[in-house]
Amino acid sequence: MSYLSIDDQKRIESVVDNIKMQTGLSYPENDLIEIAKSLGIEVFESDVSEYPNIDGLLEYVDEKGKAEPKIFLNKDRPETRKRFTLAHEIGHYVLHKNDKVRYRIDELDYSDNAEDTKLETEANYFAAVLLVPEDKLRKILALSDNDYNVAAEFFGVSRPVIENRIKWIKTNKQ
Ligand SMILES: [Zn+2]
Repeated sequence: MSYLSIDDQKRIESVVDNIKMQTGLSYPENDLIEIAKSLGIEVFESDVSEYPNIDGLLEYVDEKGKAEPKIFLNKDRPETRKRFTLAHEIGHYVLHKNDKVRYRIDELDYSDNAEDTKLETEANYFAAVLLVPEDKLRKILALSDNDYNVAAEFFGVSRPVIENRIKWIKTNKQ
């Protein structure tokens, strides 16, 4: 993952907090699709078997007004991956409204990748903060004797998402 400064991280964390305040919804108590809807985003699962590398797509009616945002998810991906992709695309929507593109196609790779652009890292960080709230993660890890698999199951994400989240939390505290 490319570098995010502490300020970048704090800015993204406050965006996630604002979504909670604005919508009155938070994950995992509320379904992620419900959260997307309350932000005005329509979510679809699509057959993209002609383009098997695609994880997700964020699309607007026009690039200026950024109206009618729609997120399409590759229906053939596992649930955990679809969930992370959805959170990642919501991240592009709330963080990158000024980027002047009408659509964005994502082929996600959760592993550390030096070529990841900053926007992708921001969207990944947003997704991890939204899906794995720090206070709830701490509770689950305390209750499960630090079992990352239990945490991954609880939040409906893959284990690397939990590992990365913990890495970022530690970086944050340094
Ligand atoms: Zn992306």
